[in-house]
Amino acid sequence: MSRVWNFSAGPAVLPEEVLRQAAGEMLDWHGSGMGVMEMSHRGKEFTAIAAQTEADLRELLAVPAHYRILFMQGGAIAENAIIPLNLIGDKRVADYVVTGSWSQKSQKEARKYAEVNIAASSEASGFTTVPAMAEWKLSPDPAYVFTCTNETIGGVEYPFEPDLAQLGRGEVPVVADMSSHILSRVIDVSKYGLIFGGAQKNIGPAGLTIVIVREDLLGRAMAHCPSAFDYRTVADNGSMYNTPPTYAIYVAGLVFQWLKRQGGVAAIEAQNIAKAKLLYDFLDRSDFYENRVDPACRSRMNVPFFLKDGALDEAFLAESKAAGLVQLKGHKSVGGMRASIYNAMPLAGVQALVDFMRDFAARKA
Ligand code: PLP
Repeated sequence: MSRVWNFSAGPAVLPEEVLRQAAGEMLDWHGSGMGVMEMSHRGKEFTAIAAQTEADLRELLAVPAHYRILFMQGGAIAENAIIPLNLIGDKRVADYVVTGSWSQKSQKEARKYAEVNIAASSEASGFTTVPAMAEWKLSPDPAYVFTCTNETIGGVEYPFEPDLAQLGRGEVPVVADMSSHILSRVIDVSKYGLIFGGAQKNIGPAGLTIVIVREDLLGRAMAHCPSAFDYRTVADNGSMYNTPPTYAIYVAGLVFQWLKRQGGVAAIEAQNIAKAKLLYDFLDRSDFYENRVDPACRSRMNVPFFLKDGALDEAFLAESKAAGLVQLKGHKSVGGMRASIYNAMPLAGVQALVDFMRDFAARKA
């Protein structure tokens, strides 16, 4: 067996230890005589797995007791509809901060359910920055303010936690799409009304969506919100109103235990800082490659970069693949390259990438 260095934006690399453990338990989980995929979601074995998974996530992110953790399906894109369906309540308007492709998509979807006010946008910069909170123009009475705190495609990450109390608007819940950086850095959950993300980057397999929602935001769903997407219903049924993505929850649980063994989120954040610094420092010192994001807002998880001579892109991709470095092609809307360096990518993988890039540049410059 030979594993590659996988820089996919998602689904993405998982810790090898987790994959080995899942493989070892595939046919017989803890002496139950069955694999997790075969278990009833209502049986005592799976109920225990789900409870442990939730408890570990709560511990890792220090989720306060008055927040509920929901295991849902449909991915972050479905949440773009599920959120307004649940949170508009008796308000008319929702505010959106647009910092790239994902928050752009989110605000477009929300328009089906509510009036949308674009409170701030970094479109004029080509989505290479995050507008400072002082520039956000909130509407008088929004149901919530939507943010995407790490834009996976543009490689733009908030350098601050959105805290509306600083604007004297602490009563307005902040919603954050954290799909591509959840668990990569320490956050203060109490600053948010709702945090959500698809699992397939830092958490586990695709098919699971995590929602962390403040309890007072439950029970506001529009009458036509599908029951399976009504946060109150999902919460009241312990995320088992319908059959949850059981195997994805189990693997997420293994990832959470792995993360705890690494020392938790603060410890992985220190590693993520070191990994990102290695790559960005190399890019900044190079006159062969470049990253175009405002240095203050560069993502630690997703690093888009360009070869200054775009004619070499195909050769870069072919040669990096031959060297065991895969999934480096940039998103089609941005072009160039992108290296996603999530929690499960070790420093050695980033070092291997930098070594390859240095060698490639020396040969082609
Ligand atoms: N939001 C962000 C920040 C993402 O990175 C992605 C997927 O890459 C999505 C939303 C869409 O997620 P999904 O495909 O799980 O619906």
